[in-house]
Amino acid sequence: MLGDTAPFRVAGNLYFVGTHAKSCHVLATSRGLIMIDGGGIDTVDAILESLGTLGFSPGDVKIILLTHGHPDHAGGAARLREITGAEIYMGEDDLKYVGFVPDHFLADGDEIALGDTAVSCLYTPGHTEGTFSFFFDLVENGMTYRAGMIGGSGVNQLKKPYMNRPDRRVSYLMRGAFFKTLDRLEEEHVDIMIGNHTWQNDQDKKYERMFDSPENPFIDPTEWQKHLDKTREAMRAIIREESKTEFVNYAHRGASETRPENTMTAFYEGIALGANGIETDVQMTRDGVPVLFNDDTLLRVTGEPGSIGDYTLAELRKFTVRKDGVTDRIPTLEGFLAAFAWRDITFAIELKGEGAEEAVADLIYRYGVDCKCVVTSFVLERLRRIRAIAPGLRTGWLKKDFADEDLAAMEKAGVDELCPRAVNVTPERVEEWHARGFNVRSWGVADDELMRSAYEAGVDGMTVNFPDRLAALIGK
Ligand SMILES: [Zn+2]
Repeated sequence: MLGDTAPFRVAGNLYFVGTHAKSCHVLATSRGLIMIDGGGIDTVDAILESLGTLGFSPGDVKIILLTHGHPDHAGGAARLREITGAEIYMGEDDLKYVGFVPDHFLADGDEIALGDTAVSCLYTPGHTEGTFSFFFDLVENGMTYRAGMIGGSGVNQLKKPYMNRPDRRVSYLMRGAFFKTLDRLEEEHVDIMIGNHTWQNDQDKKYERMFDSPENPFIDPTEWQKHLDKTREAMRAIIREESKTEFVNYAHRGASETRPENTMTAFYEGIALGANGIETDVQMTRDGVPVLFNDDTLLRVTGEPGSIGDYTLAELRKFTVRKDGVTDRIPTLEGFLAAFAWRDITFAIELKGEGAEEAVADLIYRYGVDCKCVVTSFVLERLRRIRAIAPGLRTGWLKKDFADEDLAAMEKAGVDELCPRAVNVTPERVEEWHARGFNVRSWGVADDELMRSAYEAGVDGMTVNFPDRLAALIGK
């Protein structure tokens, strides 16, 4: 036997032909085999041998249904198609994970039928963008049972380090999609839970019991719900843990309480005071250079008339930014990134004026900070433009407070960070926002008491003028 697991009949006309690590099932219909998942490229031979052991030949496989595009489920599919002549069906949104073109894209609610057997396909995104779950009837000892396979219930790929990997780049919103998927799967009645990993449905143990119990151990109408509950709790635990360990203490315009705001002096001081993030604002000069400046007019911080857009960079460079006797110049976004891109800190870059989207996105990619950067704005339209130019960039919407329709608008626009005023943050609301998949960063932290209450509510980050006090609060 090539595989490390013997092929066997699970129930009805469903057979397991995969390995311990990489699952593959076939439904033996009156007109050939429907294969569900194709294992990896390294398990193609084991699958073919298992088919042979069960008396099937490669040419019997007519359809290959893929739950999702990860290499341990879809990696062997193209080779299996070559050998068997079967047609591959999968979710279109997972095309980016595979190196082949499937024959058909699945749509939510599709019934894929072959001979006497039909498989219902539900679109269940979360584990990946294009995950599908499959349902079918199995007849065992004259009784009909509903079998279900969750297309992906692993939560590891929804942890931040994995999501942030440049070759993965999954939106935080996938977490919200995943919770919705769990709700939807809960509506299905399933008597026989099929795993697309052997550990998902405890397959090894059930296999052992198959030979000494009169009842098929795979029949267990309670298992589906238990698995969904366990998965939901595992996802919640990840979110709870992350907001503790990966908290971002953003120096708001640098350490702006004691240094001239949005200057290199203020940014360096912010880091020195313990910030692990810098928040800053971008506007375009008259000659089209993104510079870091917050106000609509120059007066408050420079004493000069007019606005950023009235001047060229050369003219703005002559102006002085002041705070309590400390002075500095208005920096460019590029100068800022050149100085800080290499550091292990997170950047929150707010689009203040019009027309900065393209230049900002370009610089973020040029300095390689796209993995540790969120582009924010009070204007949702600007975030939509960023998403159109650079769909891989994280975006955050700054707003005093968020109503249900705002959350829906964010989901629609693909905005994944929600930035409410600290006074509007409570533990219950943060939990709800997290469950919808949003990262939460609060702002408008006027004093220590507000800082503490927002932190204890479980936000993922906070913008403060005094990063030293926030660092002391969180013990870093
Ligand atoms: Zn996967």
